[in-house]
Amino acid sequence: MTQPQPRPRRRARAISTFALRLVTGALVVAGVLLCLHAFAPGVAAQDTRRMVQVAKDVYTMTGAGSNASFVVTDEGVLVFDSDIRNNDLPFIRKVTDKKAVYLFASHASGDHSTGAWYFREDKPVYIGTRDQIRAYYQNELKEFEERKAQGLPLYKGAELPPPSIGFDGALTVLLGGLTFQARAEGYGHTSGDMTMYVPQRRVMFMGDLLNNEVHPGQAEAAGVFFANIQGTIDILDRIIDRDLAVDTYVPGHGPVHVGRGIADVVDQRDYFVLMRDEVAKMVLAGRTLDQIIKEFKVPQRFAHYAPGRLSGILRLFYNQLIEKGL
Ligand SMILES: [Zn+2]
Repeated sequence: MTQPQPRPRRRARAISTFALRLVTGALVVAGVLLCLHAFAPGVAAQDTRRMVQVAKDVYTMTGAGSNASFVVTDEGVLVFDSDIRNNDLPFIRKVTDKKAVYLFASHASGDHSTGAWYFREDKPVYIGTRDQIRAYYQNELKEFEERKAQGLPLYKGAELPPPSIGFDGALTVLLGGLTFQARAEGYGHTSGDMTMYVPQRRVMFMGDLLNNEVHPGQAEAAGVFFANIQGTIDILDRIIDRDLAVDTYVPGHGPVHVGRGIADVVDQRDYFVLMRDEVAKMVLAGRTLDQIIKEFKVPQRFAHYAPGRLSGILRLFYNQLIEKGL
């Protein structure tokens, strides 16, 4: 795992439109670290990978870890997120013979940004936020190489390339008659979360800013929590305020609720607000973190969520409420 680092800044700040590769040295000094919360065991580990059609030409791979999506066009395929633990290319090939032309990563966690290897024959253009590229050079590659050195079969022969294009603000890609609006949303789940809106298909890919029916991950590495509760709430509020023409917001984890629209995003925003409030009440009542984890009652609205990541997110609420900054 990555080494503990200074607490990252609360927000990514740049607003420029488009930038190419970054110089690594200066970025290390910046001390803003992204972590790989990924590879946390237990999140649907025994589940099986399956493909769900979200809209015309839009598919999401779900189960057995994080979700990833792809969109088929006449000019090729756009892939959103990839994970070395899940080779989704065979599923794509069942739908189309067209090549992957673009590969995007929603954020620098390993369960969303380590599967480029599987697409190497197609040679897609790999695009992330500038934060994604910074995280790649700061810690993501190192962690990948460490796992590879452990001899895990998945990593045998695998390489982890950096995105070849990085952007701040927004980036629009036109492909096969479709418009793909990627946006660097700022610091939420990690220091750089990207969403992608496909207006012609009324779909938006949310990465780990959205979790359906599961507690969100805390983006933890080596005892450092990188997910930012208030930052996530602010991003979700901004997305809700956009009033986009979207039928389905695709989560980074949990089942896709096809056609449920903004209700999923509202649920996620409210989750953070209400859960934080409950934890705050327990803090007021003098409960320790251990007691909170033991005694916490999930509000009825979220009581059906799979319990796997509950203790982790409670830790995050607690520490950010009192700014313990672990
Ligand atoms: Zn994830």
